[in-house]
Amino acid sequence: MATLLDLIGDTPLVEVKRLDCGPCRLFLKLESANPSGSIKDRPARAMIEAAEAAGQLKPGGTIVEATAGNTGLGLALVAGQKNYRTILVVPDKMSREKILHARALGAQVHITRSDVGKGHPDYYQDMALTITSRTKGAIFINQFENPANPLAHETATAPELLRQMNGDIDAIVVGVGSGGTLTGIGRFMKRASPKTEMVLADPVGSVLAPFINSGEMIEAGSWTVEGIGEDFVPANADLSLVKAAYSITDQESYAAARNLLRKEGIFAGSSSGTLLAAALRYCKLQTKPKRVVSLVCDSGAKYLSKVFNDAFLAQEGWIERTRSGTVRDLVINRHEEGGAVEVRPQDTLRTVFARMRAADVSQLPVVEDDTIVGLVDESDLLSALITDTDDPAHGFNRTVKDVMVTRLETISADAPIRDLVPLFRKDYVAIVVENGRFLGLVTRIDMINHFRVGTS
Ligand code: PMP
Repeated sequence: MATLLDLIGDTPLVEVKRLDCGPCRLFLKLESANPSGSIKDRPARAMIEAAEAAGQLKPGGTIVEATAGNTGLGLALVAGQKNYRTILVVPDKMSREKILHARALGAQVHITRSDVGKGHPDYYQDMALTITSRTKGAIFINQFENPANPLAHETATAPELLRQMNGDIDAIVVGVGSGGTLTGIGRFMKRASPKTEMVLADPVGSVLAPFINSGEMIEAGSWTVEGIGEDFVPANADLSLVKAAYSITDQESYAAARNLLRKEGIFAGSSSGTLLAAALRYCKLQTKPKRVVSLVCDSGAKYLSKVFNDAFLAQEGWIERTRSGTVRDLVINRHEEGGAVEVRPQDTLRTVFARMRAADVSQLPVVEDDTIVGLVDESDLLSALITDTDDPAHGFNRTVKDVMVTRLETISADAPIRDLVPLFRKDYVAIVVENGRFLGLVTRIDMINHFRVGTS
């Protein structure tokens, strides 16, 4: 009978059927099928077993790692099965799903800044080193330099892939986080299939593709795709193996991941979107038919709140909406699209609380027949409960119309954006109406985000 750890590897390969691949055939290896859901289970297990074999990791020991998430999930899974403790340092741009998943696996997760570079004490790798030195029996896994990381791909992922492709692969499109995938697969192919070209898919802002294409080290920018792209060249990334490198924008990566789900039914994460976009670009540039492979590095389930969340895309300005330069542009969740979180006057306070909690908001518009008739916030809710001290349960059964505020100041969707400022100065939320109909709310954070997108 197989144990869970035996299920790492031997991942399936599928052919892309409905996307335009030019003259080529494109195949995807679903690393998302590994037990913790990503390409990092293989190296996680290999790095832990190498540390055991070297006598560095003793029973009851602690594993520390700096990770974008997936390495941490793989480590936490394997460590849990082998009775080690896991401490992870994760940059704050990583999706909530991965952090919740790591904690659920029993890992201790420290969140740190994603806007500082190597050498800064808050940089995730520096912080992981500090934690290791302060923790008894701890080892720093260091996927960026650990040779067991590329070796796992060289000895397992790559031969599996070549076998599944009947020994015939013209190109493999990969990303680089630590470089384990590129170096491991690249080394194996150099020996076993010299015709196979390694192609790098890199987020715009990462230093890797520009370095390969121009030999120059640019200053790193920022990107939201997780797990790939770097602000330095990791020791484990042998860039000399790369034949061609493409820089892909976040917007294109997200669109590719969404399209992959719609067209092929394959639920993949943001880095897989980058790989797919680069693979399709490579395929379309070919003049002869080629057999091209790429990877689904992890599942889209880890990015439901980002890649597959229309509100997130709208905040980034990536949703096809006409921009008018007015308050309308700042309404992210719109009533007319069913996106606004709202209640009706006859709803109970129990419903108000449930909606506030589910959407993580502190106030709700009260809407009846497309018209806003009131506003209810946390303090209205609390006062209603406190006055009913005899029976707090009764308080929750009261209706919204009993407690809502009805004296509302609204703003037209056509108003210039600066007209929001006096409302925010008075501590109001902006209630946006268009032709008498409720459009949605705009809060301070929406305005701050509007400035962020406008300046980045
Ligand atoms: N995609 C995702 C989602 C990842 O988490 C990682 C690992 N950081 C990669 C791709 C790249 O893998 P590697 O570390 O082998 O370069």
